[in-house]
Amino acid sequence: MSAPHARATMSGKAIVESQFERAADLINLESYMRRILMAPFREVQVEVPVRMDDGRIEVFTGYRIQHNGARGPCKGGIRYHPEADHDEVLGLATIMTWKTALMDIPFGGAKGGVTVDPKRLSKLELERLTRRFTQRISIVLGPYRDIPAPDVNTNAQVMAWILDEYSSRHGYTPAAVTGKPVSLGGSLGREEATGRGVMYVMAEYARDFGVPLKGSRVVIQGFGNVGSHLARLLVAEAGAMVLAVSDVSGGVVNEAGLDVPGLLAHAAAGRPVTEWPGGRAVSNDELWSVPCDWLVPAALGGVITREHNARRIDCKVVVEGANEPTTPTADRILEERGIAVVPDFLANAGGVTVSYYEWSQNLQQYRWSHERVNQELKATITKAYTAVRDLAKAKGVTLRTAAYAIALQRVADAERLRGN
Ligand code: GLU
Repeated sequence: MSAPHARATMSGKAIVESQFERAADLINLESYMRRILMAPFREVQVEVPVRMDDGRIEVFTGYRIQHNGARGPCKGGIRYHPEADHDEVLGLATIMTWKTALMDIPFGGAKGGVTVDPKRLSKLELERLTRRFTQRISIVLGPYRDIPAPDVNTNAQVMAWILDEYSSRHGYTPAAVTGKPVSLGGSLGREEATGRGVMYVMAEYARDFGVPLKGSRVVIQGFGNVGSHLARLLVAEAGAMVLAVSDVSGGVVNEAGLDVPGLLAHAAAGRPVTEWPGGRAVSNDELWSVPCDWLVPAALGGVITREHNARRIDCKVVVEGANEPTTPTADRILEERGIAVVPDFLANAGGVTVSYYEWSQNLQQYRWSHERVNQELKATITKAYTAVRDLAKAKGVTLRTAAYAIALQRVADAERLRGN
């Protein structure tokens, strides 16, 4: 499960809208198409009553927002977080549309969320919440309609409950949800896929821009699913040095490189990274100023802002492992400072890409090897990266604007072909 971090107030919806216009101008998108592509296709809001362990009933609010399905069934995770609200879920659903389009996988975009602090719930309460939420939204789900997956504070166990609840109504349907446990039809390599995809994109960027990954210094904000797998893979497969990581408690820094396998075992035992003896404890705020080559925000959105840290971040490249970590004003400051930003829906698309492989394995009832999953992921995400890099170069725009332009064009083409 991912760790929550403090964040700024700009909503996910506002961040996504402001980035959208720049790219829509670049491809001269008609105003009617801008309206179709910004507005969600369908929004569902539900109240989720849950019987707590002490017998009381608590009611939580949940959302499932399907942003666009022109290129295929809607696809995207479900997050459990006290700050998950309508605007955040809408912004994240919109990003999923661009992410699946940029990867050129046959899905649209959706996102779900329940406004809840899952750390307050027992495992049984979490299961009852998941089952009740699934019941309330199951009418809009399905393997050819909308396919949930893990996101912040949800994992393979939560997906297993969703599968069980959905299948109890519709018959056994493994393709109705991805990120499942491997023993229930999940894909090998899905759990590490987002972190692995971030590493593949970093390796490509490293080659192009002369920032070699081997021996380079990486700081990772967040040590949940994305950050922890990324740290492990960067050290084990790319020979990079992870100087610092953080969780809710704060960060831990070692300029000579952290012992990542040791730190992973420490964190797996439920201990905060600040208590790791192999480094110096710092606050979450201090983490942003640690000098490095690569800075990877890998927790929540809205953490890189003008007020807080955009002027003091000390790296060559920001790689967005989280969704929407950078506000638009901070994005411009980084651009002015000559710090490149590899945008979220390129950098962190490995998760949904392997979700696509999981879905197709379920439909074919055929299992791929872990090697095949990794090979196909590398090919898919590298192809997307190359297209973004080439367009950014040709048009003299940022990687983010180029990524948006490619994604918007693909979704707009699908909308036009379908007609109305
Ligand atoms: N929640 C992940 C994301 O933001 C994965 C979504 C999926 O696999 O459908 O991309």
